[in-house]
Amino acid sequence: MVVYSSPFPAIPIVNHSLFTHLLQKSKDGKLIGDHSADLPVFVDSVTGTVLTREKLRSLCLSLGYGLQHHGMKLGDTILLFSPNALAYPVVLLGAISAGLRCTLANNAYTSHELAHQYTDSRARRIFTTEDSLPVVRAMFEEIGVGADEATARIIVLGKSLKWAGGPDAPRTSSLLHMEDLLRVGSLEEEVKFDGERAHETALLCYSSGTTGKPKGVETTHQNLTSEIDMLAAVWTHGSGNRHLGFLPMYHIYGAVIILFLTQKLGHTSFIQQRFDPLHFCEDIQKYKIQIVMLVPPIAVFLSRHPLVEKYNLSSLKLLTSGAAPLGPELTNQVTARLPSLNVNASVIQGFGMTELSPVTHLLPPADATRKAGSIGLLLPNLQSRIVDEDGRGAQTGEMWIKGPIVMKGYINNPTATANTITEDGWLKTGDIAVRDDEGYFFIVDRVKELIKYKVRSVPPAELESVLLSHSGVADVAVIGIEDAAQATELPRAYVVPTHPEKLRTDTQKVEFGAQIAKWMESKVAKHKYLRGGVVTIDIIPKSAAGKILRRQLRDLAKKEVRSR
Ligand code: AMP
Repeated sequence: MVVYSSPFPAIPIVNHSLFTHLLQKSKDGKLIGDHSADLPVFVDSVTGTVLTREKLRSLCLSLGYGLQHHGMKLGDTILLFSPNALAYPVVLLGAISAGLRCTLANNAYTSHELAHQYTDSRARRIFTTEDSLPVVRAMFEEIGVGADEATARIIVLGKSLKWAGGPDAPRTSSLLHMEDLLRVGSLEEEVKFDGERAHETALLCYSSGTTGKPKGVETTHQNLTSEIDMLAAVWTHGSGNRHLGFLPMYHIYGAVIILFLTQKLGHTSFIQQRFDPLHFCEDIQKYKIQIVMLVPPIAVFLSRHPLVEKYNLSSLKLLTSGAAPLGPELTNQVTARLPSLNVNASVIQGFGMTELSPVTHLLPPADATRKAGSIGLLLPNLQSRIVDEDGRGAQTGEMWIKGPIVMKGYINNPTATANTITEDGWLKTGDIAVRDDEGYFFIVDRVKELIKYKVRSVPPAELESVLLSHSGVADVAVIGIEDAAQATELPRAYVVPTHPEKLRTDTQKVEFGAQIAKWMESKVAKHKYLRGGVVTIDIIPKSAAGKILRRQLRDLAKKEVRSR
């Protein structure tokens, strides 16, 4: 059995809480770490409101106290349903300081999608924005929680930033607000997760993994502290750098990189609510941003959009892509354009998966051009195998990973956990990789069902079950089709109609497909829309065991694209 080890020296693995790791105070009252207490860690990019390390710590401990005061007990779960905001790290780390777990939900979810995560994670409180209150109210109605009880479970992240020393804004709801919790008192110190307790769950992000519907990934304190230290050990860009933080924080990639790693490295994250081309360019210029964590569609924007020429982006030093494949062509296109923008930056990529906390590979900036398209080298303390369908070593095959960042498991789902992690601790990624002689890995395919629309995951099984509730759909399979121009996949449904006799002409079929696609828009979050179209088909190809043969459909889609 060939086992590949990281080329980097192993780092010590610690046993304490994530909060302790980032914001612990020493006995003489000083914040530990190499960075000063007044280092600005987070800045609201719209108002310029700053959270220093010291301020962040005290806000978190106050929030932790407030949560305990409102009845939250050790090991309880809170759900955070919000776009990126300055309050995000306060809620997340504040809950963790009180010994709670956090589950982070996509802020574009419909009430139905949210209901699954809220009930499955057994959340007891939900933090949300005023804008999302209607969805949250509808979610509580859907799961049979009465209006008064729902009111008691909601905590609002208002528009005011007064709690952070920023501008005030009026409240539009009489519900409990985050600032109310901050006023009650403060924990003296964080709840400790020392020793064995470092294996307790801190974070529950949702992922469909290799198959099925979204499942709660139990990420422990030690998974997170290990991930942070492993990344910091290979990081080549010193401290004091400025990051632009627009990646969604509900996704573990955003949470770990923008919220945790930057603190460890002593960097400043300028928080943006979402990616917006104009604000992206404006803020790089305004805040002299040096590091941008992006996803391939943003690399497309950088490689060809005229807007970027209007701004001074010369502060940029490093562009790191992740969450989806960044091919060598696109890497080279971006790299080739940068000098004309007066930018001297490396374009690299990493590989990650929610179940792996998330990053496992990173391409060193020195290899950015030589190894364009590679996900890079294994991070310290990690091992990998490349295996064929029978679990035997192969040249090209499924990538398995072992190390301190492998999740504890899927919450309340031992079967899915056992299907994903072998008895001896290897996590099966569902991605097909090759490793070259120098130890650089390349992802060449995916065996799992997952579709990635930009950074967001689209679980086909979930879309299929929604589509099957439509009376016109007798059977269905959803796959991803490639859109090279946007550097993403688009979800496409192959549908067997209930009444094929009514769909004789191409026009009828196209109209039927358009109706189904439109109907889906009322059922699912935006990133799950059937942007790849709805195609009618006589029969869904299935194995003898009834499993959808997605590869056949993917091949069919590729042929269609080629023959267009
Ligand atoms: P998620 O759990 O949402 O982070 O999705 C993880 C999946 O995204 C991986 O298993 C891969 O299929 C895909 N992915 C992430 N990073 C890369 C990358 N650099 N290249 C190719 N696929 C990637």
